[in-house]
Amino acid sequence: MKQLLFVFVLLFLLIGSVNSDDLSEILSPENYSGTSVELKTKEIKIALKAKENGKSVLGNDWMIVTANSFASAAGAEILKSGGTAADAMIAAQAVLGLVEPESSGLGGGSFLVWFDSKTNKITTLDGRETAPQFSKMTQFQNNNGDSKKFFDAVIGGLSVGTPGTPALMHETHNRWGKMNWASLFSYAIKLSEEGFTVSKKLETSIERDSDRLQKIVKTKNYFLPDGVGLKQKQIVINSAYARTLRKIANDGIEDFYNGSIANDIIDTVQNYKENPGFLNKSDLSNYIVIERDPVCINYREFNVCGMGPPSSGGVAVAQTLKILEKHDLKSLGHLNPLSWQLIGDASRLAFADRDRYLADSDFVEVPIKGLLEDEYIKARSDQIILGEKTENIDAGNPSVEFVYEFGDDKSLELNSTTHISIYDSYGNALSMTSSIENAFGSRLMTKSGFLLNNQLTDFSFQHQVDGRLVSNRLEPRKRPRSSMSPTIVLKNKKPIYITGSPGGSNIIGFVTNSLISLIDWDMSVQESVSLPHAINRWGKYEIEESIIAPSLEKSLSKMGYDTKIRKYFSGLNTIYIGKNLEGGSDPRREGIAIGN
Ligand code: GLU
Repeated sequence: MKQLLFVFVLLFLLIGSVNSDDLSEILSPENYSGTSVELKTKEIKIALKAKENGKSVLGNDWMIVTANSFASAAGAEILKSGGTAADAMIAAQAVLGLVEPESSGLGGGSFLVWFDSKTNKITTLDGRETAPQFSKMTQFQNNNGDSKKFFDAVIGGLSVGTPGTPALMHETHNRWGKMNWASLFSYAIKLSEEGFTVSKKLETSIERDSDRLQKIVKTKNYFLPDGVGLKQKQIVINSAYARTLRKIANDGIEDFYNGSIANDIIDTVQNYKENPGFLNKSDLSNYIVIERDPVCINYREFNVCGMGPPSSGGVAVAQTLKILEKHDLKSLGHLNPLSWQLIGDASRLAFADRDRYLADSDFVEVPIKGLLEDEYIKARSDQIILGEKTENIDAGNPSVEFVYEFGDDKSLELNSTTHISIYDSYGNALSMTSSIENAFGSRLMTKSGFLLNNQLTDFSFQHQVDGRLVSNRLEPRKRPRSSMSPTIVLKNKKPIYITGSPGGSNIIGFVTNSLISLIDWDMSVQESVSLPHAINRWGKYEIEESIIAPSLEKSLSKMGYDTKIRKYFSGLNTIYIGKNLEGGSDPRREGIAIGN
């Protein structure tokens, strides 16, 4: 045990320097030359240095953390000139669609959690993609009823849901924006026209996916011109995207949902010969952003608020924390395998419920109240015994006002996606996770300069399992279940943490564990986003490759867990709001925090 503790301590000291080797190069100020980044200022230099050294960024007034330095810079400029977190998100998201197009953009969907400093109220907005009106429940099955292979379903028009991100940006601005809408796009337009610098992540993502990207002419022409993938530091112009942003800047989202951009999207989806999709005019013109009830729970002296269905994120994070609450994780500490046993088993219980019950609540009854009721949580929590692997984990029977018998969902969720955390000088907080699902989404590039999502493959490919319908089955105009977990934590009714991450269904573990590290283990935001991951969703304990992994694996397998050491590619972007502000970005990705 002593040896194990030593290794943990060593690891802890090393935290923060993971993967930072080439970051100084990627983010070196020279990378900004040739572009029109105005904010080549003090804040950017501090941000780049902090990234290089694995340190938090400090501020007093405002803070933004996104997955890419250009996007953080775009949002920071807005915050600096008096914009709200809503304004800054729009500027940052417009840039992300250009510089990190494989993860999110106008062709995707997003969830947003907002804390309003005037009303002290949390609001959550659902900008998730919707299934087309003429979608078929069995469209991801072969003729014999078996599920299609994942990438056979993903590539092409069939996986494309109606994009929600442009509508979400617009709705957020209508509700909480302060600056002129058009001005929020200037930075992204300039960068698209004059060129942005390709990041290491974009280069690597293209390399890894080049076989698939090559198959689609427009996609190939942009990402692999002349058959060669874009390379880090290359300056790339996207005039089509600039034109699209100009239209949106000048006329709002009307053209996107009802005009020439809508036609371009439909044409791209319906006319992809090998795998055409059903998206039509009425799908786009009927798209709406939906305000959902936030999912808030008390965890110790904090109030943790997240996104409700169709995301499973808020409920699963909340359940895991509530199941764990009776345990003294603080005394056990983050170096103790027993903490990980408890966390892993709580997560397994939450995942069993998630797979059975979580889906779009406009289509199926989701027993959110029942899943979070004290008595139910107590019964779930009582299944876990300290030091003993919990056996026979299954979905529970939360109290409900109706009768249902759902089968367990089998949908896959792989990595791409991006997370934005912002705190503005008015005291508003914004947490938004934004996605086109898989890296490069459906791989379909529109003439309008952005990729289309493959979010419909977040539905269960099978509509029924063992004769029971699956709650997350595909239905026309339904929204696929997500794991995105944008979160705002309050203390004494004011925000104290803003966080979230990409990572498919691992998002739930990334976010939960990082909340535990902040709340129970008193970590700084940078320590928290750098903490090695250990996640158990469905029985296998997956441990991040790191110096501690072998000993943790040994302890957990001694307790009877099936274990695996692996790499993770989380992208936690977290802000702490205390006497001052602290921004931390995940060392596994290229994000940076900029604050003042
Ligand atoms: N499509 C996933 C979801 O909505 C996100 C994918 C990812 O994070 O990589 O939960």
